[in-house]
Amino acid sequence: MMASESPNTVPTREQIHRAPKVLLHDHLDGGLRPATIVELARETGYDALPETDADRLEVWFRESADSGSLERYLETFSHTVGVMQTREALFRVAAECAEDLAADGVVYAEVRYAPEQHLLRGLTLEQVVEAVDEGFREGERRARAAGRRIRVGALLTAMRHAARALEIAELANRYRDLGVVGFDIAGAEAGHPPTRHLDAFEYLKRENNHFTIHAGEAFGLPSIWQALQWCGADRLGHGVRIIDDIQVAEDGTVKLGRLASYVRDKRIPLELCPTSNLQTGAAPSYAEHPIGLLRKLHFRATVNTDNRLMSGTSMSHEFEQLVRTFDYTLDDMQWFTVNAMKSAFIPFDERLAMINDVVKPGYAALKSEWLFRETSR
Ligand SMILES: [Zn+2]
Repeated sequence: MMASESPNTVPTREQIHRAPKVLLHDHLDGGLRPATIVELARETGYDALPETDADRLEVWFRESADSGSLERYLETFSHTVGVMQTREALFRVAAECAEDLAADGVVYAEVRYAPEQHLLRGLTLEQVVEAVDEGFREGERRARAAGRRIRVGALLTAMRHAARALEIAELANRYRDLGVVGFDIAGAEAGHPPTRHLDAFEYLKRENNHFTIHAGEAFGLPSIWQALQWCGADRLGHGVRIIDDIQVAEDGTVKLGRLASYVRDKRIPLELCPTSNLQTGAAPSYAEHPIGLLRKLHFRATVNTDNRLMSGTSMSHEFEQLVRTFDYTLDDMQWFTVNAMKSAFIPFDERLAMINDVVKPGYAALKSEWLFRETSR
């Protein structure tokens, strides 16, 4: 090794945890603390929980999500959403979300939720958005008090089986400079093509606003194609099935189809969620997860948690699995993190400052640690 060359090392678990991380795809109703669900259920009189002990409830969520079916996975949300129907509950869940992400080393996060799912006890859409926003700001303050820095923006999600997308898009636009950074549609892909909500996407484009679309998770290329070429999505929620348009020959030659080429050429961000994909059956194992090939081919790939509670995961956990599987180094981790920060929906100058003043110095500090390691001299 040349003297000026630092070893590009595989990070330790502890370094992965400390490394600055950026999260673009995380559901607010998929990341509650089990103890909080139990307490909120008691306080709000929600009596449909399958378990009232926090530890057993946590296991129940994991097992239900592990069933291998996207439909059953989505069913677990009836309980988390069930306890998120008051201003206080939304505030608490949002504050704890920001706190938990900061404690995991996340410095920037876009967290999404569907306001229309929190109206069962009389809240208005506006009250839901404001309660969550206040919660995020409180969580940022608590993180700061604990010596950590995090910035959290909200993405407002419309449910693809419902018919409120335009209304939610207008809501996202109204709260645009008030903590909401973009829009998304989510829910079961089968039978609910994104083109059903064209009016919402066209509205957002006319308003120069940003949106991502859950596409190419359970469903393949047609879903990705529609999200990009009919709806004009800025990013793909998952997008992992783009792999179906990539052929690897036996001699290792790679051939990209037109859609995969477009996604790579236009630097369309892929919000990849490895552990979640394993649970829903979208990928068989970490080793066979398309993220390995997509990273090699320099797609704009990002690493995300999707639903921390249901998947028992965190950003550190996702990276631990990837580092173990693909021998990723700190440079690889930084590459994914910079990709994510470049793809965020906040203004360009702020993204750039996050990359140059937070992400890169964080990785540089970690990469220099070998210089100060303990030796037996
Ligand atoms: Zn998702």
